[in-house]
Amino acid sequence: MNEATFFKNISAYRRKMRIVGLFQLVFLVAVIVGDFLLIVLMERYFHYRKNDPILVLPIVLFFILLLINAIFADWINQKVARDTGMVCPSCDKVVRGRAIPIIIATHNCIHCGREFYHL
Ligand SMILES: [Zn+2]
Repeated sequence: MNEATFFKNISAYRRKMRIVGLFQLVFLVAVIVGDFLLIVLMERYFHYRKNDPILVLPIVLFFILLLINAIFADWINQKVARDTGMVCPSCDKVVRGRAIPIIIATHNCIHCGREFYHL
């Protein structure tokens, strides 16, 4: 891999991750709004009172969806990084996030220490 290819891969990775981030933001807003609507629905139509223990259910659901979102975010981040070629040619490990500026500065992989790309 040469420097130009690496920088092209970084742009492709960041472009795709921006779209993923937008989807995650929409998902998060939908979960929060859906949660409030569920609480209102439970209070208004099923006549649960404000301190009823069953109203914990939407909050538990919110945290479950948040956990699923975090797991999905890591998985999709790995997949996008691999698909855009953000992989070390020596050890085949994915590099992303804070590893990128270190690789730019040192030209070496943060996992195995071997040369990531040459100039
Ligand atoms: Zn490596």
